[in-house]
Amino acid sequence: MSNLPSRPRPPAARGPVRTSAAVRWRAPTVELAPETLIVVAALYWTLAANSSFFRAALHAVPAQGASTWTLLSALAVAVTALHTLLLSLLGWRRVLQPLLAVLTVVAALAGHFIQSFQVFLDPDMLRNVLHSHAAEAGELLSFTLALHLLVYAGLPLVLLARVRLEPRSWRRALLFRSALVLGALLALVAAVLAVFQPLASLMRNHRELRYLITPANVVYSTSRAVAADVKGHEQPREAIGLDSRPGPSWAGAGRPRVLVLVVGETARAANWGLSGYARQTTPQLAGLPVLNFPEVRSCGTNTEVSVPCLFAPRGRRDYDESRIRGQESLLHVLARAGVAVHWRDNQSGCKGVCDGLPGDRALDAAGASGLCRDGQCLDEALLHDLDARLDTARGTQMWVLHQLGNHGPAYARRHPPAFARFEPECTSGDLGQCSREQIVNAYDNAILYTDHLLAMLQRKLAEHAGRVDAAFVYVSDHGESLGESGLYLHGLPYAIAPEQQTRVPMVMWLGDGFAARSQVDLACLRARTRQAASHDHLFHTVLGLLDVRTTLYEPDWDLAAGCRAAT
Ligand SMILES: [Zn+2]
Repeated sequence: MSNLPSRPRPPAARGPVRTSAAVRWRAPTVELAPETLIVVAALYWTLAANSSFFRAALHAVPAQGASTWTLLSALAVAVTALHTLLLSLLGWRRVLQPLLAVLTVVAALAGHFIQSFQVFLDPDMLRNVLHSHAAEAGELLSFTLALHLLVYAGLPLVLLARVRLEPRSWRRALLFRSALVLGALLALVAAVLAVFQPLASLMRNHRELRYLITPANVVYSTSRAVAADVKGHEQPREAIGLDSRPGPSWAGAGRPRVLVLVVGETARAANWGLSGYARQTTPQLAGLPVLNFPEVRSCGTNTEVSVPCLFAPRGRRDYDESRIRGQESLLHVLARAGVAVHWRDNQSGCKGVCDGLPGDRALDAAGASGLCRDGQCLDEALLHDLDARLDTARGTQMWVLHQLGNHGPAYARRHPPAFARFEPECTSGDLGQCSREQIVNAYDNAILYTDHLLAMLQRKLAEHAGRVDAAFVYVSDHGESLGESGLYLHGLPYAIAPEQQTRVPMVMWLGDGFAARSQVDLACLRARTRQAASHDHLFHTVLGLLDVRTTLYEPDWDLAAGCRAAT
């Protein structure tokens, strides 16, 4: 309290006098060496933001009495040493405190999401985060998050603001920093050697656990995601299917042919009525002559992986992210053959799949009156001008509708009130406030709304059958965890993702005119639905349905190939 003004405080402490006293008062500051601050911060993150990592690591390595404590201590030392190294390299003089402030907030945010949803912050997840809409991100804000931030970031930030770094010459700074780096390296090596056997098996069999080390996971994954994005922008996509051309069914056809592809969001097969879910979540589709594929694997567990993969010639069977991101998509191949391609988005964009092609990147809120609010539209807005489009369609067309679907965690916001049939439903984006039953109810109600959307699409396409040969394909991009094994949302690394995140619904409907033009035997295709399928089938199935010929086409991956008369 020595820095309090020596002048006695006036008895009536109000008005300008009080203000000047308050301004002059200075909370005590602590002078610290930068290296001390670095170690304190690294220790703090180890204790405050890494409980999920330690829990997962101990769970993965069988507990053996005392060695559990050895392992835990060694991991704690290693995590602290790792962050000490990171800060030693990045946190020089003027940047150190701002860097610590940012990383402390990042660590608190990451810790909250890892604990709440059991997510892994790998580069795919960070790419998802970076490409989220403000509205999507806003739905993750909750009272629990605010409280978590206040405790885990607010308090340390107040303390950090009271720290003054010891002044020192650059020679001394370099000397101390080198000593810290050396010390951290030695500690890291010692920790690794102390538990080498279990650690080696941990890193071999559970590599994904490194994405729980907070905040290093965010720093690493963000830089990887940003680097990949920059590379993607710098290099034009490699053109594929340069030989694509229309097949014989195009010749002399006066009638327009339209294939609508609905790219679903976060719908999982486990909750899809048509695929055997105990609840009827697809009552409208159940009454229509659609083909349901109950055994479909997604390419990824998040939108950023699945959407580009879905439109690539080779997806999960030979997964290569840089090839998929570096090449044109199915839509470019179709456009090259003369298909009029159009992408309409009600979500976070086409992930490069529709680059340079026509589309509506944002829905026409005025046209879809009553369906849009606060910058977000219900999925029915995707269909708002469908009649007019079908009335004026010419030639062969491919329309992609990218749904908001079951995008969580605010499932209840994905459907209008009339679809809240399973009650009580969770109306909050903070899943911690709801019971598992309420969460599943809200999720299922959003599926009911997708069922409604697809049935409406089918009806409209069928109504125009006199003029247009039409068909639709619906497939979800990935599934969702709804509390199974304590997991929520999606985005787990594919290798360890549960079935709930990788089994997705897929539905097809081919109007009679469309089936005849594509020479598809519908009874045969219905029989094919009983076999397993995957996102890898989409590229080749669409080429087959629209009769686009290219050497990229692999009949083995065309779901309808065995059901078509040879041409
Ligand atoms: Zn998605």
